[in-house]
Amino acid sequence: MSSLSFDLISIFPDYFAPLKLSLIGKAQESGLIDITLHDLRDKAAGVHKSVDDTPYGGGAGMVMSPEPWGRAIDQVVAGSSAAHHDLIILTPAGEKLTQKIATELSHSEHIIFACGRYEGIDHRVSEYYQTLPNIRVREISIGDYVLGGGEVATLVIMEAVIRLIPGVLGNPNSLVEESHSLPDEIVEYPNYTKPASWRGLEVPEVLLSGNHALIKAWRLEQAKARTQKLGRQTSE
Ligand code: SAM
Repeated sequence: MSSLSFDLISIFPDYFAPLKLSLIGKAQESGLIDITLHDLRDKAAGVHKSVDDTPYGGGAGMVMSPEPWGRAIDQVVAGSSAAHHDLIILTPAGEKLTQKIATELSHSEHIIFACGRYEGIDHRVSEYYQTLPNIRVREISIGDYVLGGGEVATLVIMEAVIRLIPGVLGNPNSLVEESHSLPDEIVEYPNYTKPASWRGLEVPEVLLSGNHALIKAWRLEQAKARTQKLGRQTSE
């Protein structure tokens, strides 16, 4: 029985081929997650299967029509056994993805991704689903730049969320002390492996000392320095 199921709605479902690879591919094979792809055009009416129209108020580009989105999301919700659903609408105007949001989403039962194209999705889709008690709508951006569509943003969010699900990572300790981990949200210290000397660059001596207290203190100091370099506050 899958712990978390995902439904991805897009006019380019082939964009999601990488989900068969690596950790996410293995997580599907072992039943920890379940992913279903949906082609929005299957929900479009008319011979041209059009999913967009000109914007009210004028302006450049086309806007994705609410009707195919409503049909696609209703069908996905009706076909799910989950009691609660997270509907993620990808948009550069949304709240910015953070590790905190990824952690919250990793506790979800069912996540639906609505991948926009053109100038985005008619805003009433977000408004309508916000009125339904069993659906939590989140408009999410993966950063302050504009992509051509929500598919790559969906892949980014899924990778951040799925690796947090218990059993997905071979070694759960990998999640401890990671960059942006709560509560202090500092980034990780620099990592080194063998050889100890490479192209004239030596591994910091403290890491070869075997003194765990010293290593811990050095790592914390490095992590704080890197975090401050990014212009962020650290707790003392
Ligand atoms: N007209 C929109 C605006 O200025 O906010 C941009 C639309 S963009 C060309 C098309 C689609 O790409 C969006 O509807 C969204 O699904 C996706 N997208 C673009 N940039 C994104 C970002 N930074 N984060 C998440 N999704 C993004």
